[in-house]
Amino acid sequence: MSEDTIFGKISRGELPATIVYEDDLCLAFRDLYPAAPMHILLIPRKPIPRLCDSVPEDQALLGHLMLTASKIAAQEGFGEAYRLVVNNGEGAGQSVFHLHLHIIGGRDLHWPPG
Ligand code: C5P
Repeated sequence: MSEDTIFGKISRGELPATIVYEDDLCLAFRDLYPAAPMHILLIPRKPIPRLCDSVPEDQALLGHLMLTASKIAAQEGFGEAYRLVVNNGEGAGQSVFHLHLHIIGGRDLHWPPG
């Protein structure tokens, strides 16, 4: 779980991505392999590998990510039906070890997820 993931490189502008939002704390870009018609990834600039690696000092940052996800969903026309997903750890499907929120929408979403 090195700090230097592809998302770290995107955050530093070293790899291209279709960025839809950015500020001092986070940025959001389109998923290269979308799981739905609308699929955006929101990452903190701070390279936290997994949600479980976050610490109490990250509280404001994590809150900022949630509020920003909601803002991006509105900005990108997700409407009111969308899903936020955080895969924590390999067993839960995490493949890039830089914390990210999936913002997924644009189709019917079923529950429970697979
Ligand atoms: O939660 P997980 O770690 O599996 O999510 C990683 C996401 O990053 C996947 O949805 C995958 O499609 C996306 N990805 C990407 N660009 C890459 C590699 C992965 O958008 N170059």
